Formats: sequence, C-alpha cells, structure tokens
Amino acid sequence: MDYISAGDIEKYSYCPLSWWLSREEKDMDVEGVRKHREIGEKAEELREEKKKIKTFESMIMYYSLAATVVAILGIAFFYTIVLLGKIFISLSIFWIIVALYLLWRSERGTLTWGTGKIKRIMIILAVAATVFSVLAVTFVLPPNYILGYLLEISSLLWLIFASYFLFLALRGEIRYNSLKKELMLPDGEIIYIDDLKEAPLLKSEKYKIWGRPDLLIKAGKDYIPIELKTGRVPRGPLFSHIMQLTAYMLLTEENYGTPPYGLLKYGDVVYRIDYDEDLKALLLKKVEEMRKTLETGEVHRNHKRVGKCLHCSRRDICPERLA
Ligand code: SF4
Repeated sequence: MDYISAGDIEKYSYCPLSWWLSREEKDMDVEGVRKHREIGEKAEELREEKKKIKTFESMIMYYSLAATVVAILGIAFFYTIVLLGKIFISLSIFWIIVALYLLWRSERGTLTWGTGKIKRIMIILAVAATVFSVLAVTFVLPPNYILGYLLEISSLLWLIFASYFLFLALRGEIRYNSLKKELMLPDGEIIYIDDLKEAPLLKSEKYKIWGRPDLLIKAGKDYIPIELKTGRVPRGPLFSHIMQLTAYMLLTEENYGTPPYGLLKYGDVVYRIDYDEDLKALLLKKVEEMRKTLETGEVHRNHKRVGKCLHCSRRDICPERLA
C-alpha cells in the first residue's frame, strides 16, 4: 500500500478534484515557502537561544560556586581557627562516609538509581569532601596574608565571570521572550522544525500516512504539533487544514506520544484543535476515500460552493469549476 501525505490529505479535504489535479503540478507557492522558511528560521533561533540560556545558567552556577569556595579559602588564610578546622574535617569525613555507603549499596544492587546518576553523586561528594578537607587544613595553619589576598582577588574574578554570564543569560532571555511572543508559541521545548535537514519524515506504519509538521513542541509530557498557514486569515479554522493537522497529530501519536491537541496558526490567530477518536476516524475515512479514488481514477467535485472555486489555485485547469 502506498503512503499518503498529510499535504495531499489537506488538498483532498478541500476538494477531491483539486487534489487530483495537483498530482501533476510542478509549480509551488513561492511566497508561502518563503514565509514558512522565515518562521522556521525564527523557531530555530528560539531553540538555540534556549540552549544558550541553559549553558549560561550552568556557567553562573559553577563560577559562583567556585568564587564562594575560593573566598572561604582566602578567609581561612587570614585566620587560624582550630574550631572551624575541626568542623570542616568532620564535614569532610561525613561526605566520605555517605559516598562509601552509597558505593556499598550500589555494589549490592540495592540502589535503584541509574549508573550515570550514581557517578554524578559520587563526583559531587568527592569534590565536597576534598574542599572541606583543604579548608580544614587551611584553618589550622598559621595565617598567610599574601595567599589570602591572592585568593580573595581570584574569587572576585570568578564573580566577575559569573556576572558576565548572568548578563548574557538575561540578554538571551529578553531575545527568547520577544521571539516567543512574535511566533505565539506555547511554553515548551521545540523538538521538530520542518525546514531543518535533521527533521525526519514522520511515518505511520499502521495507516501508511507520512508528513512533516511545521513545528513540534514538547510541553511537559505532551507533544503539540503546530501547522503554520500563510496567506489570508479565515474566520475560523478550515476543514482541510484541520484534516492536515489531524494527520500530523496521528503521526505525532505514532512517533512520540498521543498529543492532547494541535495548533493551527494563521498569522496572529491561533486555533486549538483537540485530538479525539472522532476526529481521527474522520481523517481515516478521508484516507480510505483517497485510496479508493487512486484505485478507480474516478474523481469529481464534492461541493457546490462558488467561493471555494474562486479561491482554488487549480480553477484554470478544472473541468468542473463553479467560477
Ligand atoms: S475549481 Fe472548484 S471544483 Fe475545481 S478543483 Fe477547485 S475547488 Fe474543486
């Protein structure tokens, strides 16, 4: 059985004859393609901005942590406080005991955490124990003012780096929010952009349908396909576009997870289309009709709407046009 594309489902749902005539077409809606590409590029920029913000946030955390540790170490070189030395050595021993306990449980297989998580925790515990033992030794040593000042200066440098990354993260956040507002996208991570080469063709093995949604957003546990429409903004979502989006929801269901809804975006207007069994059944009925048409070659106009023919891009070659 041949695959049927979501784009063909859209054309068939508009008018079966329109779909049939489009099968020989070579021309494309150049303006529509350009606008789609523009939106795709902005969505990619949005995704990259999010990645950068995450990196900057990590850098802020690491640099601030380093600045704090170095600052405490610097203070330890100014004073000799035996009590603090004892506290830090106790903390160091405590972390080592925790690390050994986790290692023992991991060896016995009674720890359900993944290997990666165990390794990360071990590294954190080892670093904490090392830092505490260095602090413990430094607090019991006689003061060394030169080293103390040097460490305080380097702590200041780490803080300056952390502030620089904070600035970059804030600037990225402003750009991210402005792009998100412009694209009117829901909260979540963009995991699929049609225009990108790495975006795979989504296929439904079960129903033999394929297609590429314009965007796919992961919002929490939900996957939300988005279809972007250029050109005139209709008063409500068009049936043919709903069918196309339903095809993308079905493809999302088979490749990622059942989406609760999809979004149809016409310029600044966004419609939410809930995904349910009735809508899916309607889509599959259309697909079945298309397969029958392909078998028989028998196809005709299925409506009496003059307006539809007026807006149809195939009216010049259509033998059954109403206008
Ligand atoms: S002109 Fe009218 S009948 Fe012909 S393909 Fe277009 S919509 Fe269908």
